[in-house]
Amino acid sequence: MLSSTTSRIVLQARATLAQRFYATGTGANTLLYVEHKDGAIGGATLNALTAANKLGGSVTALVAGDAPEAVAKEVGKLAGVSKVLLAKDAAYANALPENVAPLLAAAQSQFNFTHLFAGHTAVGKNIFPRAAALMDVAAVSDIVGIEGEDTFVRPIYAGNAIATVKSNDKIKVVTVRGTAFEAAAASGDAASEESAPTADKPALTQWVGEEIQKSDRPDLGTAKRVISGGRGMKNGENFSLLYDLADKIGAAVGASRAAVDAGFVDNSLQVGQTGKIVAPELYVAVGISGAIQHLAGMKDSKTIVAINKDADAPIFQVADYGLVKDLFEAVPELTEKISK
Ligand SMILES: Cc1cc2nc3c(=O)[nH]c(=O)nc-3n(C[C@H](O)[C@H](O)[C@H](O)COP(=O)(O)OP(=O)(O)OC[C@H]3O[C@@H](n4cnc5c(N)ncnc54)[C@H](O)[C@@H]3O)c2cc1C
Repeated sequence: MLSSTTSRIVLQARATLAQRFYATGTGANTLLYVEHKDGAIGGATLNALTAANKLGGSVTALVAGDAPEAVAKEVGKLAGVSKVLLAKDAAYANALPENVAPLLAAAQSQFNFTHLFAGHTAVGKNIFPRAAALMDVAAVSDIVGIEGEDTFVRPIYAGNAIATVKSNDKIKVVTVRGTAFEAAAASGDAASEESAPTADKPALTQWVGEEIQKSDRPDLGTAKRVISGGRGMKNGENFSLLYDLADKIGAAVGASRAAVDAGFVDNSLQVGQTGKIVAPELYVAVGISGAIQHLAGMKDSKTIVAINKDADAPIFQVADYGLVKDLFEAVPELTEKISK
């Protein structure tokens, strides 16, 4: 399967929005997998729709769930969606890949979709490789640009290089990095709706439950401002310094993996290769050295500020503004000055 995908690697120090490539075509017939929860469309689906619209051609949205009707209505109003396929079944309630992947394959087979798109989220990453395997094609994951109907741009080596990947497969199964594409908006015109084909629901796994951290603070994945703390914070209590500053500027709080692994904060705050990918207008890294795995999650931020007592810390190489200072002096001072 992998032999059908060729890649040429373009080394690039820092991926920026300006370096992303777009193209439009007319032959694409794309299926967009719609992620949704509690009646709301997942943000990454809106970004994936924009990517699908860049391809040209038509976009059909698949909304699966135990009660997907209301979400389907909203999806039908999104710009570029020409049809909505509705799959109503309790087996689709929690997006278990064992059940949803056969549904995607059945829909592809019935409607001859040339492309399947989803957000590169935990859900998308869970379902799409399985769906690709069922269709016997290679998945193209985490794209940040589209050069043509078969050619996509994606980061590799934790974002240190950008690969342009050409897929020779008949069906392109693609997950889309949300921060690389604007969110699609409602267009006002309602798309037609029809039932999705029936598919196997092998029930190989069972949904047991989930624990979700509730917070009144801005969502880390979509916040315009993020303040992250690293191992330099020393302990979890000291994160209150970051929360005080974040409250003053309406920012979300994030963390490095070292801070998460040390138990300072919950792992839902982790930014980086194995955490959340963020691209806010302002990213403030406090007591974070700037390991490549951390940079992979934040280096597309518009303005990066680093506070670190070590002038040689690698974070300063990507920072637009750097402050070499003890964070326990710098952060309270900053909070106080902003309060005035
Ligand atoms: C497969 C893999 C995946 C990974 N995924 C991720 C990921 O998703 N996200 C991630 O973050 N990491 C990830 N890592 C870990 C990564 O390699 C680093 O270990 C981690 O990012 C380091 O976190 P840190 O910068 O907080 O800690 P450190 O590297 O220990 O840096 C702490 C920094 O704090 C500064 N400091 C200390 N005290 C103060 C003070 N009082 N005032 C100011 N500055 C101070 C120090 O100078 C230092 O630069 C991954 C690693 C692997 C192998």
